Order: sequence, then C-alpha cells, then structure tokens
Amino acid sequence: MPDSILVTGGAGFIGSHLVERLLEAGKTVFVVDDLSTGSLDNLAEVRDDPSLHLIIDSILNHPMMKDTVSQVDRVVHLAAAVGVRKIIDHPVETITTNVRGTEIVLDCCDKHGTPLYLASTSEIYGKGGDRLHEEHDRIMGSTAHRRWSYACTKALDEFLALAYHQERGLPVILGRFFNTVGPRQSGEWGMVVPTFVTQALAGDPITVYGSGEQRRSFCHVDDTIRAVLGLLDAPGAVGQAFNIGNEREITMMGLAERVKDRVGSVSEIVLVPYDEAYGEGFEDMERRQPDIAKIGGLLGWEPEKSIDQIIDDVVAYYAAKVHG
Ligand code: UDP
Repeated sequence: MPDSILVTGGAGFIGSHLVERLLEAGKTVFVVDDLSTGSLDNLAEVRDDPSLHLIIDSILNHPMMKDTVSQVDRVVHLAAAVGVRKIIDHPVETITTNVRGTEIVLDCCDKHGTPLYLASTSEIYGKGGDRLHEEHDRIMGSTAHRRWSYACTKALDEFLALAYHQERGLPVILGRFFNTVGPRQSGEWGMVVPTFVTQALAGDPITVYGSGEQRRSFCHVDDTIRAVLGLLDAPGAVGQAFNIGNEREITMMGLAERVKDRVGSVSEIVLVPYDEAYGEGFEDMERRQPDIAKIGGLLGWEPEKSIDQIIDDVVAYYAAKVHG
C-alpha cells in the first residue's frame, strides 16, 4: 500500500476508523473534513499523531483539494452527505456535496494519475431486494421522493469515476457500503442502530418505523474497514465495484427487541407510521441484502462480527458517552 493517503471525510464515522488503521500501519494520512456530519471527537485518539495532517475544509474548495491531492499517493473519498434524515431535510446540500464534491476529487486525482477509492452505497440498488449482486438492476422511485436523490448522486459518482477510469486510465475502485454500524455512528441523521441504542439506554420509546417487518443487513465497521484495506491492496480491484456488507438479515422489529434485550431496557417499542417519521410520501425498501461473493472471491473477505457484537459495541460507546 502507498505511504501517504488522503481520506476525505476522515473525521466521520467510517473515516475515523479507517484513519486509525492507516496510522497504525505507519502511513502518512491527510484528512479533509468540513465537520458537517463528522466530529473532531472521532479523531481524539490520533489527534496528536505527527503523521496525521488535518484540514478542516470542504471538498468543494477546489484549489485546496488540488494542493492536497498533489501531496499524496492515493485518495480514499468518503466525504458525502449521508443519512436518510439529512437527505430529506437538506436536499440541496446532499446533491451538491455528492455530485460536485466527487467531480472535484476526480479532477484532482486525474491531474496526477492518483488512484482513487470511491465510497458508494447499497442505496444505489433502490427498491431491489435480496442477494443484490454488483450487476443487479437499479429500481428507483419518482423524483418527487427526495430519498432517491441520494441514490442518484452516488450512482452518478460511480458513472463519473468509471468514465475517468475508462477514458483516462485513472485507477479507481468502487466500494458499496451496506448498512455499516459501530462506535461513533451518530443517530442524528436517522441511522437506526444508534437511534435504538440511545432510546433504549434513556428508557425512551424505541421507534420502529412502518410495519417493522422491513429487513436490513448490518455490518460492523471493523469488518468494513478490513474490506476497504483489502481492496486498496488488490490490483484486481481496479475498475470494479464491490458490495461490502453482511448477508445476515434482521427485521427492524427484531432489531428493536434485540437492542432492548441487550441493554436490559424498560423502553416500550412503538410503531411509528412512515409519514410521521419522514413526512408524506416516503418510500422505504423492504430488504437490502448484499451478495458478497465478488469481494469474497477476490480477497477471501467475509464479515466476522455478529449483530449482537455490533449492538454491544454501540451500547458500550453510548454508555461511555453518557457516563463521561
Ligand atoms: N428506522 C426505524 N426507526 C428509526 C430509524 C430508522 O425503524 O428510528 C428504520 C428505517 O425506516 C429503515 C431501517 O430502520 O427501514 C434502516 O434505516 P436507516 O436510516 O438506518 O438506513 P437505510 O437502510 O434506510 O438507509
């Protein structure tokens, strides 16, 4: 792996875990983060590491990005507006950051032929259901539903990255994260596991949206980071997209019960209609389960951590926060 890496969004939930692993491996790490959803607290353990260069700025600052990319051997582009709540509440910011931001990152990488890892998302499959493989059709709802803007911005990012690869020979790798969870993930933008955990710890009602029968597959961030590091080192990954997720599914009602049980909480579990949760006309997907045969075939990677380990790690993180 190269010696110096820029991680955009490096103060975010996934980014901060990646930055820690890269520093442990002896790399020089540059971080560009505007702290819009990330936080310096996420980097507290590595803030004083002399190999970490922290730039608090937006990826939309083109001259700064040009200068920073010129100093590194590789870029991992994680900075994006994420979270269903954020996408619904701040659509202009979501679309601009995700589209223009990636255009800028790609332009800067292209100047020096700097290899790029682009973080994409399972959301791009849209309403598609189980065992989603990388070539699966994408099924989107109407543009009247803001939720789908996120999927479209990330799909456009993928198209653009592949275009740079095909037309200009830029080495790009696309990693599609499926519901990634772990310590430092915030519930502020709607993510379900930290939301349920903080509700359970506080003894507040656990809010299950819709029927609670919808299912998700949750992957521990430690497993996700192993996959990203593996892809960065795999020449066969260039020009390809990979699902990164856990195949095991759980319903949201099942998750609420499991969280309540593991916390030992007195919280009641309540059903909240989608309209109340997200406003009128919200569309959720029933299932979103990855097929991980492709990354498994290339790297031998598979997730190791169970849903209970995921919940316990998130509980430990939030319990420590509450108790200072
Ligand atoms: N969800 C829920 N209660 C909450 C937050 C989310 O029941 O307080 C549901 C949401 O409707 C979805 C699932 O949990 O079906 C996962 O939501 P999240 O926003 O974490 O990720 P998504 O997979 O939808 O991108």
